[in-house]
Amino acid sequence: MKYISTRGQSPAQSFEQVLLTGLAPDGGLYVPETLPHYSREEIAKWAGLGYAELALKIISPFVDGAIPEAKLKELIDKSYANFSHKAVAPLRMLGANEWVMELYCGPTLAFKDFALQLLGHLLDYVLTRNNQKVVILGATSGDTGSAALEGCRHCENVDIFILHPYQRVSEVQRRQMTTVPGDNVHNIAVRGNFDDCQRIVKAAFGDQSFLPEGRQLVAVNSINWARIMAQIVYYFYASLQLGGPHREVSFSVPTGNFGDIYAGYLARQMGLPVRQLIIATNSNDILHRFMSRNEYSQSALKHTLSPSMDIMVSSNFERYLFDLFGRDGKALAQFMTASGDANHSIDPVRWQDAKQVFASAAVSDEVTCEVIRQVYEETGFLIDPHTAVGVKAARECNADHAVPMITLATAHPVKFADAVTRAGLETPALPEHMRDLFEREERYAVLDNALSAVTGYVQSHL
Ligand SMILES: *Cc1c(COP(=O)(O)O)cnc(C)c1O
Repeated sequence: MKYISTRGQSPAQSFEQVLLTGLAPDGGLYVPETLPHYSREEIAKWAGLGYAELALKIISPFVDGAIPEAKLKELIDKSYANFSHKAVAPLRMLGANEWVMELYCGPTLAFKDFALQLLGHLLDYVLTRNNQKVVILGATSGDTGSAALEGCRHCENVDIFILHPYQRVSEVQRRQMTTVPGDNVHNIAVRGNFDDCQRIVKAAFGDQSFLPEGRQLVAVNSINWARIMAQIVYYFYASLQLGGPHREVSFSVPTGNFGDIYAGYLARQMGLPVRQLIIATNSNDILHRFMSRNEYSQSALKHTLSPSMDIMVSSNFERYLFDLFGRDGKALAQFMTASGDANHSIDPVRWQDAKQVFASAAVSDEVTCEVIRQVYEETGFLIDPHTAVGVKAARECNADHAVPMITLATAHPVKFADAVTRAGLETPALPEHMRDLFEREERYAVLDNALSAVTGYVQSHL
């Protein structure tokens, strides 16, 4: 299987090549040239598979022989073996036909472990085989950083540098990153916001001349195709638990960079019967404005109680737009370069097509807290603020109550004590493996909001 750029100006690449990079040279994102498609009969045969077994079925065609099947199986098994729940992605019922899928049973308590545990093992295997060393450079508003560090700290051929905005991540999130041991692990707090961190990372990828000969940067944000690939699995898994593929299901997805819900869109393109895909955003609502008003324009970043969705632009949306634009990379490139303009919109016919695929809702902090409290009162179950945004959007957009509605529960509430307290509830205790988090030694550098400060730091720590 080949991977092509959404901007249409870069050559097609293999799985291994897209695994070991970030954006395509033309500024686009890599997508599979074609998708595998499965009939209902084929999907039905996967009923009853364990999570890792199902993951192998779904992931294997995308890896396309780059890793021998038996080895791939071993890497996938290892990736999900240390999840704290045997089901890996358990479903919990909130009400009649209303479900949440708990995606926070991995080591860092957010869904990002699903992709980054696997990414770590894939990188380790491929780099060892190639006798190659790489540098991971990533920016995080919280959850990506800890999941990436946890996933990659065992990789001998990786030096990993994670930028977070100084004093702008929750204390649990910061400690989850800065207490990860290892000489190859580096945390950098940048005196700026998340967008500043992202800008620095993007600029460093654009000019990698600061790296020693033979080294290259690898992305761990959801620009990296391997992350998307891993996330397709749980959509199939959830459906198969609830009567799929012979019955439709709907998903509501707390959305920031559009990586998670894009994986849901791909699952549907691959043949999974999905009725609704709901984009749930907080007040950083560019995607909701697009879906409801055909308005695709940036507005100022707002800091909310669901910080992992605080973004101005969702990078993976470009992957969906590529399909919406009939895979015309040139047209898409023009649209993307103009996307800073006010009142930016797309052709109304295409916009109607998008509305056939996605519903959307934006949820304020106030309502987020109300929903945390309401769900707790209804069920005794505590959800985190990102999940609350998803549950609210699911309830608001649900078009058919006979179809199971599954909200992706993207993080454990212990990571977001602020919101839980604001909802008038008590923060739960840290899980067993993190009990001593507040006693562990922290290591991080605080750097100025400047590219040269970061590249200089990377140079002197390789
Ligand atoms: C990253 C994250 C999201 C957003 O996921 P995207 O793939 O960026 O849309 C939502 N919730 C939590 C808890 C996250 O960590």
